[in-house]
Amino acid sequence: MTTLWAFVDANTSAAPAKPEAASSTSEGATRRAVNDGLLLWRLPHLAFLLLIACVGILLWYWERHEHETQRASLISDMLWFEQNLQFQLRHNEELLAQLPSIGGKPDSLAFASHAKSLLANDSGLIRVLWLSPEGQRLATYPPPLGEGVRPLAMAKFIEDAFKLAMTASRPIYAPPWQAEDHAWQLAVLVPLYDDKRNIGVAVGVYALSRLLDQMAPWWLAERYHLSIIDANGAVLAQRSKIEIDAFGDPYQMTLDLPGQALSIRALPFRQPPPLASRLIVASLIILAVLVIVSFWALRRDVAKRLAAESALKNEVAFRKAMEDSVHTGLRARTLDGRITYVNPAFCRMVGFTAEELIGRSPPMPYWAEEYLDETRAMHARVLAGDAPSEGFEIKLKRKNGEIFDALIHEAPLIDSQGRHVGWMGSVVDITEHKRAAELARQQEERLQASARLIAMGEMASSLAHELNQPLAAISSYLAGCRHLLAHRQVEQQAIDDALAKCMAQAQRAAAVIRRIYAFARRHEPHTEPCDVKAIIGDLASLLEAEARRQGMRIQIELPDRLPLLEADPVLLSQAIFNLMKNGLEAMREAPSSRAILTVSVSVERDRLQIVVADRGCGVPPEIAERLFEPFFTTKSEGLGVGLNICRSVVEAHHGRLWYEPDAAGGSRFLISLPLFSSPPLP
Ligand code: ADP
Repeated sequence: MTTLWAFVDANTSAAPAKPEAASSTSEGATRRAVNDGLLLWRLPHLAFLLLIACVGILLWYWERHEHETQRASLISDMLWFEQNLQFQLRHNEELLAQLPSIGGKPDSLAFASHAKSLLANDSGLIRVLWLSPEGQRLATYPPPLGEGVRPLAMAKFIEDAFKLAMTASRPIYAPPWQAEDHAWQLAVLVPLYDDKRNIGVAVGVYALSRLLDQMAPWWLAERYHLSIIDANGAVLAQRSKIEIDAFGDPYQMTLDLPGQALSIRALPFRQPPPLASRLIVASLIILAVLVIVSFWALRRDVAKRLAAESALKNEVAFRKAMEDSVHTGLRARTLDGRITYVNPAFCRMVGFTAEELIGRSPPMPYWAEEYLDETRAMHARVLAGDAPSEGFEIKLKRKNGEIFDALIHEAPLIDSQGRHVGWMGSVVDITEHKRAAELARQQEERLQASARLIAMGEMASSLAHELNQPLAAISSYLAGCRHLLAHRQVEQQAIDDALAKCMAQAQRAAAVIRRIYAFARRHEPHTEPCDVKAIIGDLASLLEAEARRQGMRIQIELPDRLPLLEADPVLLSQAIFNLMKNGLEAMREAPSSRAILTVSVSVERDRLQIVVADRGCGVPPEIAERLFEPFFTTKSEGLGVGLNICRSVVEAHHGRLWYEPDAAGGSRFLISLPLFSSPPLP
C-alpha cells in the first residue's frame, strides 16, 4: 500500500560496524512506520465494521423491542377479551337460570320476552330452549316455524350434556356442532330450579361466529385475527376485520367452559411501524450508506494521495541525490538571514556540519573576522535584494581557519504559494581557480620577460656581430688619427676625413641598433599548430656543421607520426636550441666516440615529451638545484639566462622542464608539453 525508502548512509567503509547498526535501526524504524501505517489504515476499517454491526444490532434490538411490546399488548388484550367473554358467558348462564316459570312450567309469554331480551342483548345467543327434566322441549325462542312445542328427539351429545347438567346441577356446555348452514354452534345447558326443585334445563344456543362478532370490539378485530378452535385445533369461528396476512406468533387461551375445551386464538396483524421508528431506521440506513460512500471516496482519495506521496518521495530522493552530487554549495536563508538549508557540498566547503549551520543567524561561523565589515555589508545588500545579478566574490573562512575565495550567486526563494520566503545562494570555491589564474598571469609575465630576454639576447648577439665591424673601423680610424697627432703630421684634411669616416661608422652602428631593436620587438609570443619534427630537423641542420667541426654527432630519434603541437614556434625552437647548444658545449672535452647529442621525441597519452641527452661532463649534484636560476652559469663567457628562459617558455606552454642525470654519464633535459586536442600529422 505504501512505498518507503530508507536512506542508508553511503559512507559504509569508514566504520563497518556502525552502518550495520544504523541499517538495522533504520530497518526497525521502517518496520515500525509500516506497522503504524497499517494500524492507522485498519482503524477506520474497524470503526466502519463496528458502526455497521452497531446499526445492525440497534435495528435488531428495535425490532425485538417492537415485537415484545406487541406481544405484551397481545397478551393483555387477550386477557381482557377472555375476561370479558367469560363474564358475558357467566352472565348469560345466570340469565338462562332465571327463565320465568309458573308452577314448574314455562310461562310462555314471560319466557318469550325474557328470551327475546337475552338474544337482543349482544349476548351471542341465537336461541333459547326450555327442556323438561325428562328432556322434552317445553319452550323455544325464537319459536320454530310450524313446529309448536312438540317434543323432538335430542341429539346424543346434547343428551349427554343434559344428563350431566342434571346430575351436576350446574351449567354444562355441549360439544359444538355444525348447523345446516355449516356454521358452528354451541349449547349451554343450565339446570332450572323452582324452590330447589328441578323443573328442567334451559338451553342457550350460541352461534360461535356471532358470539365472536358481538364480543370482540372493533379495535381488537383490527389488531388481531381471532378464532375459536376446538380441542383438535379445528377452527370453529373466526373474525377478521382486515383481510391481510397475519404474522407473528399466535396467542391461544383456553376458555373456562365446563364440559368443553374450547380456545380462543389471536394472530397479530402486520402493523406498520410508527413514523418515528420508521424515520429512525431510515436515518440509520441512510447514515450507513453515507458512511460507506464517504469511506469509499476517502479510500480512493487516500490511494491517490499515497501515489502522489510515493511520486514525491521519488522526486525528493532524485533531487537529494542531485544536490549531493554537485560540487556547488547551496545555502537557503530566510528573509531575516537565518539559515534553513545547506547541501553537503557547502558543508564540505566550509567544514561545518549541517546541524552546526541550520538555524544560525548572522554573524555566520564561516564569516572571516578579517573581512567582517565587507561580509556584513554584502549580507545586508543580499537581504535587501540588491545583490549583483552576475554574482559577487567574497572571502569566507573554513572551520580550520583557512580563508578561501567564494563566488556567490543569490536568487529569491519562492514557496509553493508564490511567496518570497527567503534567499537561495549558490557558492563556488574559486580559490583554486584564482590561484591558477594568478599562476597563468605570472607565467604570462615570465613569458613576456623571457621573450624580452630572448629578444635582448638576440639583440645582444646581433649587436655584437653587427657592431663589431663599425666599432673596429671607428677604432682603427681613431688609432690613425692618434698616430698622425703623435707624429705631429697634422694634416687637417686627413684628420677630417678620418673623423668623417668615424662619424659614418657611428651612424651605421646606430642604424644597426635601430634595426635590431625593431626586429626584436616583433617577437611577441603567439601560438599556432607547430610541427615539432620540422623544428627539430631545422635546429639539427643548423648545429650540424659546428658539431661536426668539433668531432661531435647529433642523433635525432622521432616516431613515424607526431601530432601537431599548439605552441609559439620561435620560442619553442629557441628553447630546444638552447638545450642542444648547452649539450654540445658540455661535450667539448669528451672523446669523439662518446660525443653524441641525442634529441628524441615521444608521445605518451595526451603529452608530448622531448628529451635532449648528451654524454658530456654532467652536472655536479651541488649545482643541480641551481641550474634554472637566472644568471647562474659555470662558463666564463656564459650569461646564465639560457635554462631560465627555457623553463619560462615551457611553462608558458603549460609544460614542464626538468633535469635528470644520464645513467650512461652526461645530462638529460626533459620537456613535457600537453597536446590538447591537436590533430595528428598526416
Ligand atoms: P650559460 O649556458 O650561459 O651558462 P645556461 O642557463 O644555459 O647559461 O646554463 C647554466 C649552467 O648550467 C651552465 O653554466 C652549466 O654549468 C649548466 N649546464 C647547462 N646545460 C648543461 C649540460 N648539458 N651539461 C652540463 N651542464 C650544463
